[in-house]
Amino acid sequence: MQNTVPVLVPIPTEGPYSYGVPEGMSLAPGDLVKVPLGSREVTGVVWEGNETGVDPKKLRLVNEKHDCPPLVEDLRRFIEWVAGYTLSPPGMVLRMVLRAPAAYEPPAALEGLVYSGVEPERLTKARSAVMELIVDGAPWTRSGLAHAAGVSTSVVNGLMKMGVLDTVALPAKPLLAAPDTGFSKAELTVEQQSAAKQLSAAVAADEFSVTLLEGITGSGKTEVYFEALAACFEAGRQALILLPEIALTATFLDRFENRFGVRPGEWHSELAPKMREKVWRQVTTGELRVVAGARSALYLPFKELGLIIIDEEHDLAYKQEDRVFYNARDMAVVRGQISKLPVVLCSATPSLESRVNANLGRYKHVELENRFGEAILPDLSTIDMRRDPPPRGRFLSPVLTSAVGETITRGEQVLLFLNRRGYAPLTLCRVCGHRFQCNNCSAWLVEHRFRKQLQCHHCGEARPVPEHCPECGTFDHLVACGPGVERLAEEVLDQFPDARTIILSSDMAGGVKRMRLELAAIARGEADIIIGTQLVAKGHHFPMMTLVGVVDADIGLSNGDPRAAERTFQLLYQVTGRAGRSGGKSMGLLQSYQPDHPVITAIASGDVEGFYARETEARRVSTLPPFGRLAAIIVSGHDRRETEDYARALRKMCPTMDGVRVLGPAEAPMALVRSRYRYRLLVHSGRGFEMQDWLRKWFAAAPKPRGSVRVQVDVDPQSFV
Ligand code: ADP
Ligand code: ZN
Repeated sequence: MQNTVPVLVPIPTEGPYSYGVPEGMSLAPGDLVKVPLGSREVTGVVWEGNETGVDPKKLRLVNEKHDCPPLVEDLRRFIEWVAGYTLSPPGMVLRMVLRAPAAYEPPAALEGLVYSGVEPERLTKARSAVMELIVDGAPWTRSGLAHAAGVSTSVVNGLMKMGVLDTVALPAKPLLAAPDTGFSKAELTVEQQSAAKQLSAAVAADEFSVTLLEGITGSGKTEVYFEALAACFEAGRQALILLPEIALTATFLDRFENRFGVRPGEWHSELAPKMREKVWRQVTTGELRVVAGARSALYLPFKELGLIIIDEEHDLAYKQEDRVFYNARDMAVVRGQISKLPVVLCSATPSLESRVNANLGRYKHVELENRFGEAILPDLSTIDMRRDPPPRGRFLSPVLTSAVGETITRGEQVLLFLNRRGYAPLTLCRVCGHRFQCNNCSAWLVEHRFRKQLQCHHCGEARPVPEHCPECGTFDHLVACGPGVERLAEEVLDQFPDARTIILSSDMAGGVKRMRLELAAIARGEADIIIGTQLVAKGHHFPMMTLVGVVDADIGLSNGDPRAAERTFQLLYQVTGRAGRSGGKSMGLLQSYQPDHPVITAIASGDVEGFYARETEARRVSTLPPFGRLAAIIVSGHDRRETEDYARALRKMCPTMDGVRVLGPAEAPMALVRSRYRYRLLVHSGRGFEMQDWLRKWFAAAPKPRGSVRVQVDVDPQSFV
């Protein structure tokens, strides 16, 4: 009987398929192999356990084994775990690992030239220039040698033909040198030292642990976790740093380089394919010692990972809501558990989940309570917009406007924060009241004046701003309702025509490159007023900024999301924390129409503990996470009727059991997205409930969705739209 192996392939199947092993090929679990799949050839991974799927009579052979280190066992177990937890096919999780096709084979070796010992026939001047360089026996590249000797490559080619030069394979250069832990150590404060010691101890213990590093903005969390990284490098292990917006964190890369003498490897969606391949390959071979990346970096095949750091652990960007729905922060903790390594979660405003885990002693809690150096937290206060409203058609209260004026007169920087892209969130016709709505989504179109477009922020549909109303035909009667950053910029320009004003929002022309430049310019003090969406709230260090004005602190307080209060608190705390990071007095002003709201008062009074205590209690009472569990089920399809019918049929089949409730189906708040109608079901249970087992039973009993109907499961949902 022929030998067979189970191979997991990156497609949505329940388990590995069987393949035959050709004579002479020896395979072990973790090996990367090329296998035929239908009419294609794909790369899969040799698995252990039982194979399913392919009829033994039709068994096809493995085509080829890649010349690549195997996926380590921890990573294989992690893939299975994520698949089980998120109710995704393991092949789809594997697909997140296999993200760099050309990296499964070693890079082509560079051709090098060495002296063979044969004398050239005739020693011309050009030839002797070459000879002088090669006699010591070290290899050269062809062009390098010609260039150094100051001759044309034809001279070098001639010497090769004569047999004076032999070719050898040069090893590929590592992408980046190993970090140098002694390169430039910061002198830590006493408080920082004690925190760094605790993190380094966790690394030295070389076992699974989770530490929550909580420190106010500007307290030096990065400096502290750099010491944990140093301990990890010294122990000969690789490290992974997850960042919420890697494309924007040029300053982080610089800081890392200042500390360790080299940059970390980068991993994010904007990485060029060649670079992606190098990083992937060198992570598996162990040549690359550290990667800073977005959430997908969690699936990189590290050879000997020793530490995972998750910066801004509360950030929503860690949640993927597409194909496999997962939270990289939570999955990082799982990877730590499986691989028995320390995980460090950092934040000034931890998620309630992490905070509760720390309070209950499940996580270690390391705190930094002071800003570094002279820096002190800004004075925060609320502007009651009912008492000090802005002039008609404007959005800045006179109180905020005069504070802006005073700040820039002193030569200091202002950040005006408004979490709305574009010119106005809603455009309507003054005559007939027609509202511009997306054809594919239940969303208003947002006017972007710079681009002269109306845009849908959900599906990207864009159309030119029409000259007349499509309903009543009136010309020039379209009005903008509400502010976006572009409209705010108009107001600022009008009030402060001489100020250097920059708008920063994620959809800005020029993309990440331009954004990095602008952020660096702001840090150097080359702007007076910065108008920005949430992308400026995160982690940036702007030394000259002394005033942060939050234009609409109420956005997000009443959107039906159980985490609305927590999110608003985190965002406002982070954004006001941009002020006063290098000594001197600084201020945060929050414009609000409901200044007595508990979130707004907690921010303004700086009562962080009180906020967490109240919010924890509220979650406990209603058994919301982390005291209970949630899973969302989203049924979507092109036909509204068919979609709704299926959602109802699905609901009928759910197994009844004590301790679990199913809500819905209800039309989703975003009832139509990209031309798909959406219905939501929400499962709510206590903490100990075996949610996944129960869900699997349910789906097994449910009818298969037909036509365009699709079911997505979101365990631990962060979004409820
Ligand atoms: P956080 O991440 O907690 O907001 P950072 O690590 O960004 O704080 O530190 C804030 C600023 O203070 C940075 O510019 C950092 O370089 C500086 N800083 C913090 N600790 C030290 C230190 N021990 N020595 C020198 N500079 C420090
Ligand atoms: Zn749309």
